Amino acid sequence: SIPLGFFGGIGAASKNGILVKGSNYLEALNHVKYVVFDKTGTLTKGVFTVTGIHPTTSITKDDLLKYAAHAEAHSNHPIAESLRSTFGKEIQTEAIQDYNEISGHGIQAVIEGKEVLAGNAKLMLKENIPFTQPDEVGTIVHIAIDREYVGYIVISDEVKNDATSAIRSLKSLGIKQTMMLTGDSKKVGETVGATLGIDTVHAELLPQHKVEQIEALDQQKLAKEKIAFVGDGINDTPVLARSDVGIAMGGLGSDAAIEAADIVIMNDEPSRLASAITIAKGTRRIVW
Ligand code: ADP
Ligand code: MG
Repeated sequence: SIPLGFFGGIGAASKNGILVKGSNYLEALNHVKYVVFDKTGTLTKGVFTVTGIHPTTSITKDDLLKYAAHAEAHSNHPIAESLRSTFGKEIQTEAIQDYNEISGHGIQAVIEGKEVLAGNAKLMLKENIPFTQPDEVGTIVHIAIDREYVGYIVISDEVKNDATSAIRSLKSLGIKQTMMLTGDSKKVGETVGATLGIDTVHAELLPQHKVEQIEALDQQKLAKEKIAFVGDGINDTPVLARSDVGIAMGGLGSDAAIEAADIVIMNDEPSRLASAITIAKGTRRIVW
């Protein structure tokens, strides 16, 4: 039978904007020693701003942005949304003749008969396009038209206001290790990790690599210790399912992630995880 105190705990969590899908997840929070975070949309706002447009051929900045925005016309990725809003003009959907979103890489599209590639370094390497490696810190969208590298666009995301305190609170609650997994570049990953005081950062990961990192951690930890994963869920459903306690952001998060998660943070604040652990500890004290 389920101790009544757990229902009280679920209610207290709910009053704090934390939806717990069962008393067993609240109990599991008491044993969490490793907290793994996704970056974009989880620790950062997931709202990107274009901070630089850098053509490397005679193409104009306007045209570079126009091709990028058209290539990204059908993508829901926050990067795509920022490119379209910075472009600001109407997208000529009839100009898009073909479109493929390549998970963890970017876009391959045919715009006005030209093949456009828009994505990260991984995409350029995969397609054998020589490219510039800029010094700027930011998420870099490289663009190639008809296999020729034509430049890059820099977009930046901000860390959430409570992200630093979220990590600090977890440490004070006895979490052994905090970790961040991201598909973004090493430079961006390490900068965000250092800013927030995260112990370990793994960058340039594809969604399946995120699952492999959780599995590796699972091998290292003691049997009774549990792993929590916190994600906004664009691509994160497998990791949410694989971790002991899967936690999704309920605001920005995708429906699939909210469905796959054990706990949902309704207002997207990562610091709510520490509140949930505190409630779980308090609940346990009342029960036993
Ligand atoms: P994260 O782990 O940061 O949430 P994703 O797995 O969603 O990241 O994406 C990883 C990386 O793949 C992004 O940082 C970006 O470089 C690239 N990428 C993914 N989708 C797109 C897209 N639509 N346009 C451009 N780049 C993309
Ligand atoms: Mg994400």
